[in-house]
Amino acid sequence: MRYVSTRGAAPTLNFEDAMLTGLARDGGLYVPEHVPTFSAEEFRQLRGLPYEDIATRVMLPFVGDSFSEEELAGAVSRAYRHFGHAARAPLVQLGPNHFLAELFHGPTLAFKDFAMQLIGQLFQMALARRGERVTIVGATSGDTGSAAIEAFRGLDNVDVFILFPKGRVSEVQRRQMTTPTDPNVHALAVAGDFDDCQAAVKGMFNDFAFRDEMHLAGVNSINWARVLAQVVYYVSSALSLGAPDRSIDFTVPTGNFGDIYAGQTARRMGLSIGRLVIATNRNDILHRCLTTGEYRTTAVLPSISPSMDIQVSSNFERALFDAYGRDGRAVAQLMDELRSSGGFRISQGALERLREIFRSGSASEDETRATIRRVYEETGEIVCPHTAVGIKVAEEHIRPDAPMVTLATAHPAKFPDAVEAATGIRPPLPARMADLLDRPERVVEVENDLGRIEALIRERARR
Ligand SMILES: *Cc1c(COP(=O)(O)O)cnc(C)c1O
Repeated sequence: MRYVSTRGAAPTLNFEDAMLTGLARDGGLYVPEHVPTFSAEEFRQLRGLPYEDIATRVMLPFVGDSFSEEELAGAVSRAYRHFGHAARAPLVQLGPNHFLAELFHGPTLAFKDFAMQLIGQLFQMALARRGERVTIVGATSGDTGSAAIEAFRGLDNVDVFILFPKGRVSEVQRRQMTTPTDPNVHALAVAGDFDDCQAAVKGMFNDFAFRDEMHLAGVNSINWARVLAQVVYYVSSALSLGAPDRSIDFTVPTGNFGDIYAGQTARRMGLSIGRLVIATNRNDILHRCLTTGEYRTTAVLPSISPSMDIQVSSNFERALFDAYGRDGRAVAQLMDELRSSGGFRISQGALERLREIFRSGSASEDETRATIRRVYEETGEIVCPHTAVGIKVAEEHIRPDAPMVTLATAHPAKFPDAVEAATGIRPPLPARMADLLDRPERVVEVENDLGRIEALIRERARR
């Protein structure tokens, strides 16, 4: 299995190299050269299997000869053994034809654990085999950083540095990053906002001397291995509801487009997914884009669903690559235009191809709060603000002949203030992490200055 860049000008790589590299050298994102397909009968044979078995079978053809079936199965079983639910991604019914896939039973209570826990295991195997070590640097608005720290803590051949905007993540998110005691993890509170953190990380990757000296590796959501791990719960949810003998729709609370692109990949594997609905909060660039054909960035507005507060949706580039008939030059041109003028217009043909698969909608802050309240009153379920955005948009797209699955992307206890304001109930943390608020914190404060941040990392990485 080979991986090619969405901008068509980087070397093709195997799965392992694509995973360790993250971003392609031409600035593009790696995608499989051919998406492997399963027949209806092959999908039927997965019905009723444990999540781990479905995961191994679905991912194996993408992994090629980078890992054997035994190695992959071992990584998968270690990745999900600390999840708080035997089903890993259980379904709950919300209403007629509407289901929630609960993706928040991992160690940091958001869906990002599905991918991050697995790539922690895969990195470890690949680095041990090569006798190499890496320094992982990442920026987070909350959930990615805690998931990465939890996945890589304690590993011998990895140091992890996570930059988060000081004072702008929830207390639970911050504590998940600052309370692990392992010497290889470092939470850096940057005096700036999320964009500053992200710019610093990009700056480090573009500083080739620093990048090579520290063996930098990225695990943000553009890493193909993360997308792949997320394909699995689309398959397991759809099978539970009657696929491949029935069409299933999904609604996905969307920011960087990684999660919903995993859904598109499952669809291209031949799974009977009908529509994929993009749900955005008031940062609705993707909804505007699908509606008008114009992808144009504006200022990021803070919201009560902060993990979706984003203007440049990185993984959308993968969907554009498909919609433009896998023409890397066309994609590179759009991305140049985005950089120089803050936006671009999608060609009519590509827009039509996107609209065959995707629908979209957005939820305002008031609509999000009202949805949290109403879902609680009607069903007794307490949902996080991101999930509520999804539910509101899903309800506008439910069809009588296809079950709708909305992805519940985080546990409500991760965003207790917003949930309490809407329902009057403060959702408690699961028992297995109830002492989070009492554990001592360890955090390094740093100015929003690339030189200082690099110096800090040089000093603290173990190499
Ligand atoms: C990351 C995140 C999202 C957005 O997912 P993307 O893959 O970036 O589209 C939605 N909800 C929660 C809770 C998240 O942590």
